[in-house]
Amino acid sequence: MNPIPAILGGPPAFPDGPPPWPRSTDDVRDAVARAMNEGTWGGYHGPHVEELERRLAARFQVPHVITCSSGTLAVEAALHAVGVGPGDEVVLAAYEYDSNFLTVHAIGARPVLVDVAANNCNLDPSRLAGAIGPQTKAILVSHLHGGIVPMDAVSALGVPVVEDCAQCPGAAIGTKPCGGFGAVGTLSFGGSKLLAAGRGGALLFHDERAYRRARLWLHRGVQAWAVLSELQAAVLLPQLARFDTDNLRRSDAVRRIAAERVPGLNLFENAIESTPAYYKVGFRFDPIAFGLSRDLLLRAARAEGIAFDAGFAALHVGRSPSRYRAAGPLAEAARAGETIVKLHHPVLLAGNESVEIVARTLANIYRNASEISAAFPPS
Ligand SMILES: *Cc1c(COP(=O)(O)O)cnc(C)c1O
Repeated sequence: MNPIPAILGGPPAFPDGPPPWPRSTDDVRDAVARAMNEGTWGGYHGPHVEELERRLAARFQVPHVITCSSGTLAVEAALHAVGVGPGDEVVLAAYEYDSNFLTVHAIGARPVLVDVAANNCNLDPSRLAGAIGPQTKAILVSHLHGGIVPMDAVSALGVPVVEDCAQCPGAAIGTKPCGGFGAVGTLSFGGSKLLAAGRGGALLFHDERAYRRARLWLHRGVQAWAVLSELQAAVLLPQLARFDTDNLRRSDAVRRIAAERVPGLNLFENAIESTPAYYKVGFRFDPIAFGLSRDLLLRAARAEGIAFDAGFAALHVGRSPSRYRAAGPLAEAARAGETIVKLHHPVLLAGNESVEIVARTLANIYRNASEISAAFPPS
């Protein structure tokens, strides 16, 4: 039973493509109906936002939470909150979410890029010491694609840390939730994210002073200018309630896919005792071991209806060196930019049968790699 890969004309494993996201579940529909019936949805201030902020503070074990209009804005507010201003430097990984780099510029600060760890393509704390100078005001850390950055090693440098958890809500190091390690943590509630409201974000504060500064920055007089709405908070509350259960199911699905051990598809490895959360499941792709170029693997997977994508481009690649300072060589980040492939999360909740089909289909693409290569010669 070796089906013909869809890219070679066989039937796709998922004819309808990847599962839709966010799912329209009864608990979310009920929450919207309740907000409508209670009339709370039309107000400037209401009980849903307050309850969401309370529940997030409890779940992420931080004293203060402010919800806001996007994850990008949350990162900008967090950098302001820890005192970053024009002319300052912010250290971040050279393999990062592009908007985070641009947010540093939006503040008028200068990004300082450090290399990533080979095992999980996330910020490598051992590179930080050489990056920090008199202008450094903050370290911006994202946990990406199932990778977890060792936060104790980052905090040890004594520089204020902003921890971007847009891709890993629910992840933990030991028993402590990610998002609570820096002075400020951030979340995104964008439409593709694990906690989805179409748009939205949140700031998680450990640091009292940062909390007060962010509150001030997010107000023009009495006017809060970048808030989450009552309806957005209403749809997030039921998702947060079942969130830990969903994350356990996602992690179990990732284990099932990894158990197929397809050569060349190497799941990120975290050096520290941690519980990742999966918005994207990152793989370090080895085209030689797999027998296909990354581009052909992605095309073959998508032809099957599997939401596989290339990772980010490294921040320094194709950018003018005047826009950042490189703290040391960025070879691992460059390699990450060329080799990462990532699986989008919705299929992880689609049930064991779908997850097994993903694993078997990737293995089948591997077994047919030479036929696929021959059918699509490099031009
Ligand atoms: C999605 C994302 C953001 C931005 O969130 P938005 O709500 O889309 O603005 C920030 N950082 C990372 C790592 C993300 O994945």
